Amino acid sequence: MSRYKHILLAVDLTEESNEVAQQASALADSFDADLSIVHVIEPLSLAYGGDIPMDLSSVQDQIHDQAKSHLSEFASSLAVPAERQYLIFGRPESEIQRVAQCKDADLIVVGSHGRHGLALLLGSTANGVLHGATCDVLAVRVGRQEAQTE
Ligand code: AMP
Repeated sequence: MSRYKHILLAVDLTEESNEVAQQASALADSFDADLSIVHVIEPLSLAYGGDIPMDLSSVQDQIHDQAKSHLSEFASSLAVPAERQYLIFGRPESEIQRVAQCKDADLIVVGSHGRHGLALLLGSTANGVLHGATCDVLAVRVGRQEAQTE
């Protein structure tokens, strides 16, 4: 059976990415699907608008270089080749959807914290990706221990 052929794993490169990656990798193995990875860097100008009166381009370059090497290390641990590693600038939700569409992914795998209260109202990346995605989306619950002790 080959239900999914191309799985796109979205990672924020925090420690929790490992939990999400294990699920994506196991699914890719069981469906004999290709696995790709995307990490989106939010431009500082988007995050802070015009509020900081200085040139942020060198800081942005450093963030890019660090993210590139971190992504490459992370992807190698999952045996994902360089041509299936995507490092993009923009808003995570829309860029993850766009990469999935451009690269013909049929499943997006993201992490989800199962938020509640105010955080739920403010939304999450998983919610944002789900709304408007043109393929299936799997939200892998992360940080369970944290949620149980709250
Ligand atoms: P959040 O709702 O921001 O806590 O993120 C939940 C999940 O969304 C993460 O586990 C990732 O799968 C995905 N995600 C969040 N930020 C990014 C990002 N900058 N690039 C790629 N995926 C992301």
